[in-house]
Amino acid sequence: MLIAGNWKMNKTAEETAGFCAALKRRLTGLEGVDVAVFPPFTSLRAAVLELAETEIAVGAQNVHWEEVGAFTGEVSAVMLREVGAYAVIVGHSERRQYFGETDETTARRAAAALESGLSVIACVGELEAEREAGETGEVLRRQVLALPEDSELVIAYEPVWAIGTGKTATPDQAREAHAFIKGLVDVPVLYGGSVTPETAPDLLSQDGVDGALVGGASLDVESFAVICEIAAPA
Ligand code: PEP
Repeated sequence: MLIAGNWKMNKTAEETAGFCAALKRRLTGLEGVDVAVFPPFTSLRAAVLELAETEIAVGAQNVHWEEVGAFTGEVSAVMLREVGAYAVIVGHSERRQYFGETDETTARRAAAALESGLSVIACVGELEAEREAGETGEVLRRQVLALPEDSELVIAYEPVWAIGTGKTATPDQAREAHAFIKGLVDVPVLYGGSVTPETAPDLLSQDGVDGALVGGASLDVESFAVICEIAAPA
């Protein structure tokens, strides 16, 4: 199981150092679960330094497909590798919704990251209106099949209507969507969308759920640590 914390645009470098120091203390001795945090670019270094002697990995929230050049505001995979990131999230629904990310740009970011040796968590998921219109399968198929095939690719199924809303997919909905995605591509699939210490036990115990991408609840050491413990084998 992998439990990944997507911090979004939260935590300065100073706050990151304090959080990571507390998290590593809190998770000392926890075995059988992979844990990773995804701070903003400016906090990556602080996280990498603080977590250096631990198994907790650090990743970034976006990456550009070119290595270098005139792409104001973007960061390349080489730069992320240099700072110590092991992975990157691509295609998050907030990127798709607010920053014009498409299946094509998500795929280009994923391919460049994989090529450079980063692991990738690629986010897919349907809007509420798409689910209500019975289009979930079609949307997932389009988003998943756009991605490059690679052994370092992980998919996060994040129904958009469940992100940051407190609405969680039912365990049955999550199991169905994960089975559908795994029928398209043989990769680990994380669930994301209002995962909390309360919802995690039912979601993480479903067949085909290989971990969680946690937003809001990953910003608090205790709630993130409890989710990691729930994911660890008994
Ligand atoms: C996310 O942003 O990836 C996410 C799942 O957020 P939340 O857990 O807050 O719904």
